[in-house]
Amino acid sequence: MQTPAHSSIGGPLSYLHDSALPAGTLVRVPLGRREVLGIVWDAPADASPAAGELRAIASVLPGLPPLGQAWRQLVAFAARYYQRGLGEVALAALPPSLRELTAEQLERRLRRKAVAANAAAGDQALPVSIALSAEQTRAAGQIDAETGPFLLFGSTGSGKTEVYLHSVQAALAANPQAQALVLVPEINLTPQLEQRFRARFEPLVGHQAIVSLHSGMTPAQRLKSWLAAHTGQARIVLGTRMAIFASLPHLALIVVDEEHDASYKQQEGARYSARDLALWRGRDCGAKVLLGSATPSLESWHASDPAVGRYQRLAMPSRIGAAALPRLRLVDMGQQPRRTVFAPPLIAAITERVEKGEQCLVLLNRRGFAPVLHCHACGWKSDCPHCSAAQVFHKIDRTLRCHHCGCSAPVPRACPGCGNPDIAPVGRGTEQLEEQLAALLRNVITPERRAARVARIDADTTRAKGALQEQLAQVHAGEVDVLVGTQMVAKGHDFRRVTLVAAVQPDSALFSSDFRAPERLFALLMQAAGRAGRDAHYMAAHQSAPELWVQTWHPGHPLFAALRRHDYPGFAAQQLAEREAAAMPPFSHQALLRADARTQETAQGFLQAASDAARAARLPGTDYVQLYPPVPLAVQRVAGVERAQMLIESAHRGALQQFLAAWQPLLHDERHRHKGLLRWLVDVDPQAI
Ligand code: ADP
Ligand code: ZN
Ligand code: ZN
Repeated sequence: MQTPAHSSIGGPLSYLHDSALPAGTLVRVPLGRREVLGIVWDAPADASPAAGELRAIASVLPGLPPLGQAWRQLVAFAARYYQRGLGEVALAALPPSLRELTAEQLERRLRRKAVAANAAAGDQALPVSIALSAEQTRAAGQIDAETGPFLLFGSTGSGKTEVYLHSVQAALAANPQAQALVLVPEINLTPQLEQRFRARFEPLVGHQAIVSLHSGMTPAQRLKSWLAAHTGQARIVLGTRMAIFASLPHLALIVVDEEHDASYKQQEGARYSARDLALWRGRDCGAKVLLGSATPSLESWHASDPAVGRYQRLAMPSRIGAAALPRLRLVDMGQQPRRTVFAPPLIAAITERVEKGEQCLVLLNRRGFAPVLHCHACGWKSDCPHCSAAQVFHKIDRTLRCHHCGCSAPVPRACPGCGNPDIAPVGRGTEQLEEQLAALLRNVITPERRAARVARIDADTTRAKGALQEQLAQVHAGEVDVLVGTQMVAKGHDFRRVTLVAAVQPDSALFSSDFRAPERLFALLMQAAGRAGRDAHYMAAHQSAPELWVQTWHPGHPLFAALRRHDYPGFAAQQLAEREAAAMPPFSHQALLRADARTQETAQGFLQAASDAARAARLPGTDYVQLYPPVPLAVQRVAGVERAQMLIESAHRGALQQFLAAWQPLLHDERHRHKGLLRWLVDVDPQAI
């Protein structure tokens, strides 16, 4: 019996029931004074606890088939691999409202679903499908014929989605029960994808058989989708990373779109990678796994190297309709007038595009108006009182906001340090770019004889529900000429009239201490470039050629040389050579032990003690595992909490896993010896160091 309510309860608990229940059955059980949801777990071989001490199962959730063995194996693997409690992972994998529904409520839901399912069947018109290009045909043929896993390495606009659609169709056609799971990195990409899948598959499988699953849905919607997947009624599940845990008894295909995207890694609780779990799940249950990206993660790229051969690499280098990839225009900021924000040639290029009725996209990875306010008289800075970071100036409501802890305060009238009324913003955020750009373009007239319109999309403008969809719709409708935004707008969107993309301040990533920063920057710039010139007909009609503009102080950096050639393989080869020389992932395996405490000394003290204890105990795997000294995090204090971490590295994944598992009990023991320690956690395969 599994009682997943409490993470301090490690393994399964035992309960009594008057008849044998199959593993995977959902039940309600007493725990302390509460009654909680539980899952009947596979009985351990050795245990047969004394019956006298056991409490009885309160009820069995009616009408639900048990969670299958494959699902239980997935959950057990994730808990083991990511060093979390089995119950915690299992519970997190179920829709939250399953915990609250009474038996009657659940029965009513299931009945309603059955009626709807019967109504949906019958409509069997054939779907409209597009004739695949030669490259698409070759890739799709290999996916049909072989077992994978596959890495679909296709340029932006090469038609990867069309290959996913084909593969899903093939999987569903092969077996009348087969289910397909399609993962995308961001909630805001699901509506566009859902539309395409519905247009293609509703005539085949009916409306009810296509469901979404992501955290932006209401608990009721999530439960509905989850039940549809679990009962086999849903044939296609589209979702974000959490959907990797959906119960899919007839899973035949998993697609992971934009597989390199960092948002596949969960950043709290069990810090799982949905992409990595997809590969495990596919292998375990015999489903095909198809990863896709124009800029794969270096891990996946390496695994698909023919010399390594763990994945099959399928290349689609050309854009649909022979649309050209954007030409790179590097602006050397060292050659521009002092304090230039937008280099004059870039403004001239944007002006020219807007006057022709084309759209431009301007990227900056920083929200707000300015990252910090500064007093030149006394040196005061708008530091957050709770964090080791500055509060960002948001001009629109004249607030100072901390992007780490979320605290917000009105902008002071004068310097809190010396009373100087003249405190000034330093640096630039999206808000300021939007304002400056609007000023620079104020005399530009579009072919419809109206003034150029500049709009901004970032986390601040899209807080309200539906706001992003509405803003994107305006862009698609051509009501916006220049769109300023954070990376949110660089990903995935199929803009048809954008012909110029500009990154105005990408340099910080070139010299970051995080070894993945160049990989992420390259991916972001390639993605961003992929938003330009997607529509070959439009480009030809306009006699237009797409461009990617990058403003940089380091135009000689090799990353830009590779970007100019759209040469992901070249970039990846150079990065992988560096990683191999330095024994970094994918040539080594990492985990982080992180500690939060009242003081930095306590946080680091816990980590050091944990490290000493591991050495003293000569834990299994120790000889192959390297423990680094504890260090503060880059932003060391957030919301008054001091944060530190310690890197654990090994050339052997197995040794690292063995070591981490053996370390857990020592960490639990050690915890109580450190007063002021708030929490600790292990992050396996961390995204950022
Ligand atoms: P990617 O996901 O690789 O960036 P998409 O799958 O979004 O590319 O395809 C880009 C555009 O090309 C889309 O508008 C899509 O409808 C269109 N497209 C894809 N494949 C074909 C094809 N075989 N024939 C015509 N148009 C296609
Ligand atoms: Zn001052
Ligand atoms: Zn703060």
